[in-house]
Amino acid sequence: MADAFDMDLDTPVNLFDRLKKNQPENFSMKKIPGVVDDKADVAAIVLAGGTGSRIAADLRDYTNKPKQLIKMSGKPVLTWSMDSFDAVGQIGCIVVVCPEEDFEQYINEVVDPFAFQTPVLMAPSGESRQESAFSGLDFVTDQFKYVLIHDGARPLVPPSIIKHIINVLKGCPECDGAVCAHPAIDTLKVVEDEMIVGTPDRSAFWEAQTPQVFKTKVYREAHLAALADGFVGSDGSSLVERIGGSVKVVEGKRNNIKLTVPEDYLILASVLHSLKLEHGSEFDL
Ligand code: C5P
Repeated sequence: MADAFDMDLDTPVNLFDRLKKNQPENFSMKKIPGVVDDKADVAAIVLAGGTGSRIAADLRDYTNKPKQLIKMSGKPVLTWSMDSFDAVGQIGCIVVVCPEEDFEQYINEVVDPFAFQTPVLMAPSGESRQESAFSGLDFVTDQFKYVLIHDGARPLVPPSIIKHIINVLKGCPECDGAVCAHPAIDTLKVVEDEMIVGTPDRSAFWEAQTPQVFKTKVYREAHLAALADGFVGSDGSSLVERIGGSVKVVEGKRNNIKLTVPEDYLILASVLHSLKLEHGSEFDL
């Protein structure tokens, strides 16, 4: 049943038609070939060590694969985002972080069948997202001045956003990092014991996504400090912020969703499937 989701979506309402109207101008659907610059100075760490427990209960009925390995429109979820990193010349290596016992499966399903130009390394994942990121960092050599972190469960990240966020950091000497985010659109509530106790000013809040890019030296220091203090943050930026680093926010797109709960699957499947219908097998985000 593994390919049950690689299905023909014959839905009466084409969700993609509605989504497409809101695409940014730079949402290119042309195939962008992999490329590595001579002076590539960014290493990408793609996190794929999660168990997918929030999605597993429903999807496990159809597949025993971790969510990053589920095939959508011809490619595993993880390969979709790796393709986008492969298309950015400034990225000189892609470190895939996943369970060590699954290295062979990941290589066979996610890496080998696809012709990546960028060297791919495998790093063992840890108990938490933060441990996995730290493990990936171990494989980043000093030749890479910048390190970029991405959730492997976000397959819709386009190369244009990756290039943009890298260029924003490089163009901001006083910055230590840049984070893809978008302004909060729902009204936020502070809740205690199921009761609303406050409504903060929404305009101050942004929702952080990945990719996030940092100066490698600062990111390493931030991880070591967090480890020493027993601090666990929900993203890499929070570690850099707590050691006093300056992190710039870069507005990304809300469609850069993370495959977390089954509803996400339906949105991603619709978008990717519609792209495939329009452009055949040779398309990219
Ligand atoms: O659990 P969550 O969806 O927030 O995870 C975000 C990303 O971090 C996912 O791509 C997941 O595979 C990765 N992760 C990891 N190691 C863990 C937990 C999560 O690489 N121990």
